[in-house]
Amino acid sequence: MIRFEHVTKRYADGTTAVDDLSFEVAEGELVTLVGPSGCGKTTTMKMVNRLVEPTEGRVSLDGEDVSTVDPVRLRRRIGYVIQQVGLFPHKTVLDNTATVPHLLGASRAESRARAAELLDLVGLDPKTYGGRYPEQLSGGQRQRVGVARALAADPPVLLMDEPFGAVDPVVREHLQNEFLRLQAQVRKTVLLVTHDLEEAVRLGDRIAVYGQGRIEQFDTPATVLGAP
Ligand code: ADP
Ligand code: ADP
Repeated sequence: MIRFEHVTKRYADGTTAVDDLSFEVAEGELVTLVGPSGCGKTTTMKMVNRLVEPTEGRVSLDGEDVSTVDPVRLRRRIGYVIQQVGLFPHKTVLDNTATVPHLLGASRAESRARAAELLDLVGLDPKTYGGRYPEQLSGGQRQRVGVARALAADPPVLLMDEPFGAVDPVVREHLQNEFLRLQAQVRKTVLLVTHDLEEAVRLGDRIAVYGQGRIEQFDTPATVLGAP
């Protein structure tokens, strides 16, 4: 479903962020990208939704070279969740979540119904939280809205960059568990970046362990943990 073939990214200043990367992620698979800061995880992820263009090699989605797909159309197929989700501050939680379905052509009533369903799915009661504004939520609750919004276009692919990085460890574990429950229902193809090996192991069907600009190991959690 997602395929990298000999992908290299050199930034304008000469930094080689990713060096000759090849791997595949199957449909419905959750792959975690783990490694220290600066090893190329975010760059890898952003080449999937064309926020970054590869210098060499090819990234494809469902067999289609992403460099030939219109970025707007591409982003409808790819939900994106970052560490500090940018919610619209002047919109309620419900409207933040309803914006995407509405932009995609659903009526206002349909969009709001869909948004309420999504909030429920991520564990936020729409009756309690739907009318609040982002500043009235905790960090963990804002992340949930970010996940709900990323799911709103029902994209087959989710890119998540340190989605639980900005919350304290107890909340993080809670969000991780909820996310696993959610993923069991929605079965998206997921790339999730983390610098935390424990998180990578807990969430990943497979784990890509990064060294500098390269994937050094790409395997199941059991194999990664059992490796000498
Ligand atoms: P990670 O997500 O693992 O922290 P990144 O993909 O963000 O790593 O960065 C990989 C390398 O590329 C780092 O050396 C980083 O400084 C560099 N880098 C990232 N973005 C840019 C950019 N826009 N211009 C130049 N160098 C960059
Ligand atoms: P804002 O905080 O301005 O409301 P967003 O939170 O929607 O904006 O987006 C933050 C950044 O991420 C923007 O640069 C936007 O273009 C980008 N972005 C948002 N959604 C996606 C997506 N699905 N795929 C790729 N990039 C996205």
